[in-house]
Amino acid sequence: MALRAALHQAGAAALSHLLRFAEPAVGQRTLPCSCGRQARYRELRAKTVLTVLGAATIARPYYLCPHCQQGQFPADRELDVADTEFSPGVRRMQALVGQDAPFDRGREQMHMLAGLEVTTKSVERVAEAIGADIALCEDEQAARAVQLELPIIIGPPVPVLYIELDGTGVPVVKKETVNRKGKADGQPAHTREAKLGCVFTQTKWDEDGFAIRDPDSTTYTGAIETAQEFGKRLYVEAWKRGWSRAEKKVVIGDGAEWIWNIAQQYFPGAIQIVDIFHARQHLWNLARLLHPGNTKRQNQWIGLHQKRWLDDGKIDKLAASLRALPVTDPELAKKVRTEADYFANNAARMDYPLFRSQHLFIGSGVVEAGCKTVIGHRLKQSGMFWTVNGANSILALRCCRLNRRFEDYWENRRAA
Ligand SMILES: [Zn+2]
Repeated sequence: MALRAALHQAGAAALSHLLRFAEPAVGQRTLPCSCGRQARYRELRAKTVLTVLGAATIARPYYLCPHCQQGQFPADRELDVADTEFSPGVRRMQALVGQDAPFDRGREQMHMLAGLEVTTKSVERVAEAIGADIALCEDEQAARAVQLELPIIIGPPVPVLYIELDGTGVPVVKKETVNRKGKADGQPAHTREAKLGCVFTQTKWDEDGFAIRDPDSTTYTGAIETAQEFGKRLYVEAWKRGWSRAEKKVVIGDGAEWIWNIAQQYFPGAIQIVDIFHARQHLWNLARLLHPGNTKRQNQWIGLHQKRWLDDGKIDKLAASLRALPVTDPELAKKVRTEADYFANNAARMDYPLFRSQHLFIGSGVVEAGCKTVIGHRLKQSGMFWTVNGANSILALRCCRLNRRFEDYWENRRAA
């Protein structure tokens, strides 16, 4: 470790030497200024930047506009160190550790693994800035998607493309929930719903006919935003993954209305499937309402016909039987009616025998696991409270990394 530290130190000295820019030649000492006039070369100015080798000094030309007093350092843009004291290499590390774990853990990791001293705040600031930049690129793509200007992505046909979506609460700071209703009546909300979507493909099924997800085929996208905005974001992700050349398209979600609104608007022609476990959960909730505290009767009620009808896709029969239940209590009758409507409205999305015969997935387990790994593990640890912007930036960064696009981001950044 001592030798490595010494080599880093020598490297930083060499780097400082390399980053000593020459004065511009006489005759090349002006630059266009944003005010439309010419900025003039003044002098070489030094700046210290933390690089992966440690602190290095950059000496670079400074230009000042005599008309509007605006100064500029063209070399900073070229080196991607404008308005920052960290090199791209260090920022890449800060973003990487910042999306993975709490910011202070990230600071510790940089110290332990890279021998770099940075503050917790700088890990937070840089990770959020990079995440915001990634989110901005996505927003631009979403805007182009609305104009139908996305580039066609060439590739082999996709047998089955799945889109699964779900929502999960992210704890936020107080100002983000002003005037928002909480889950319990009269209580303020402490969380905001992050929407998560995942896209994956399927080519095969196992010997029992159950669908097999293509290995490493899952990508994620998510944000705290309206269903309308999220729909666009998810559409861009699906497009990148071959939506236009998918032979079969499937959207899976729970019964939430926003999910099916998005499916209808952005993914027309897709097979819509209600996650079977959510549907079963609805039956169990009903059983508990009908036979409170009596698990034996609850089991009996479910086992008699209800579960079989659900699994066999006989949803009309199921809904009709719920409507025919002899319930006298008006409160309970209302709840039963709501459940009957839930099944009746989603009947086509619960044709499980048909979906099974086509070897399709009928559960939304992928996105539910995603809610834990993508959002829960990073954003919902105890004591965490996020701003919406902060949470969205880290979410964008985390998805970028999980989608194996983190290196592409830095490549593109360098190319730009
Ligand atoms: Zn100017």
